[in-house]
Amino acid sequence: MKSKHIVIIGAGPAGLMAADVLSTYGLNVDIYEAKPSVGRKFLMAGKGGLNITHSEPFSDFINRYDQSDWLQPMLSEFNSQKIVAWMDSLGISSFIGTSGRIFPTEMKAAPLLRRWLSSLKKRGVKVHCNHYWQGFTANRSLRFSTIHGEKLITPDATILALGGASWPSLGSDGAWANILASMNVDINPMLPSNCGFRATWSSYLHPHFGKPLKNVSAWVKNDCGELLKSSAEAVLTTYGIEGGLVYALSRPLREQILIHGTTTLYLDLLPNVTADKLVSLLAPSRKQSINNIWRKAGLDDVKAALIRELLPKEKWSDSTSVATIIKQCPIELSGMQPIEEAISTAGGVKQGALTGELMIQNVPNVYCAGEMLDWDAPTGGYLMTAAFASGRFAAYGVLKNLT
Ligand SMILES: Cc1cc2nc3c(=O)[nH]c(=O)nc-3n(C[C@H](O)[C@H](O)[C@H](O)COP(=O)(O)OP(=O)(O)OC[C@H]3O[C@@H](n4cnc5c(N)ncnc54)[C@H](O)[C@@H]3O)c2cc1C
Repeated sequence: MKSKHIVIIGAGPAGLMAADVLSTYGLNVDIYEAKPSVGRKFLMAGKGGLNITHSEPFSDFINRYDQSDWLQPMLSEFNSQKIVAWMDSLGISSFIGTSGRIFPTEMKAAPLLRRWLSSLKKRGVKVHCNHYWQGFTANRSLRFSTIHGEKLITPDATILALGGASWPSLGSDGAWANILASMNVDINPMLPSNCGFRATWSSYLHPHFGKPLKNVSAWVKNDCGELLKSSAEAVLTTYGIEGGLVYALSRPLREQILIHGTTTLYLDLLPNVTADKLVSLLAPSRKQSINNIWRKAGLDDVKAALIRELLPKEKWSDSTSVATIIKQCPIELSGMQPIEEAISTAGGVKQGALTGELMIQNVPNVYCAGEMLDWDAPTGGYLMTAAFASGRFAAYGVLKNLT
């Protein structure tokens, strides 16, 4: 068994975690990575603070995923507590933020990645950068393009951990989808997730682009009439709206846009104040300007500008109209930002194309893991957790099938 040679393609969280498991069992592990260095998206994720997982109870945690039944066995084997313990084992402490999100104490990804790579190296894992996987030869050898030309490798098993198609400059360009589709592997089209959405604003809003809309809640209605809700910050941008508030709703918003071409996102700009209370707070007064009344009712500059954008001027002194739009502010969305700008990718290799151990049904000894699988989740540490957990699960699949 120890003489078996395993190739992992893709040195992101999923691929590195697969190497972590396999090297613990003493297998001969080589990682091939297209880019000149490893974990580029992982490092980018750490730029704003690496939200590596989430502390909420597992019953809530698992329900953040669209494919919770499929992911359940993977995530219960490598849940948030296991991630914290694993970071501890590498000497990286962590903390739980006010929202329940878990971060390494140093916030950045680089210290964790450095220690992780050093531990993998000690266990004999070899990393080969500048190796771009291009598919298989007729006899199922792996074909790589390198600076020295084409290289063919024939391992005992392969784990593909090639990521989705967002932020291709960091390495995951989604080109694997064509390779696998040509081998009759069933793949759901890759679409942007945790992305911004397009809305058309007048020049009136321009001074407020880039400023946060704080403490708002939002909802979208699906075709079954269900309301999908979120509350976080959003940011108005030249193209529309982005931020945690809409990322959390990106799945239902995307579905509505794909079906109907457009959809409406509703915002409650002051969720802690009732509509009745607002009507009285917004009552016109001869002594106070509209600006003053709105500010005292709790509207900051960005929220006030949004109301002016959406409500005709003649209604700005009508407290009922203003209160109504504050509590149910409709934003017409006409599309999603391109996948290249999305935080993550929905779609990918379908569950049915794989065995229970993540091996491709019709390509023996080739496994898939990470964001290239067909699951979707919001930001909050869920993406990284599923990448780790599925990488680990694929590695255990290899171990099981090789013995
Ligand atoms: C800006 C940003 C911020 C994020 N923040 C967070 C966060 O805070 N928390 C969170 O949970 N998630 C976050 N994410 C998402 C998270 O980074 C990804 O879900 C995760 O990196 C996916 O891991 P992966 O290993 O499946 O794929 P990737 O990390 O994309 O790794 C895939 C690797 O495969 C390589 N590769 C691709 N094709 C080939 C090929 N043909 N040949 C060889 N190598 C190839 C790529 O170069 C890459 O290194 C963020 C993403 C972005 C873009």
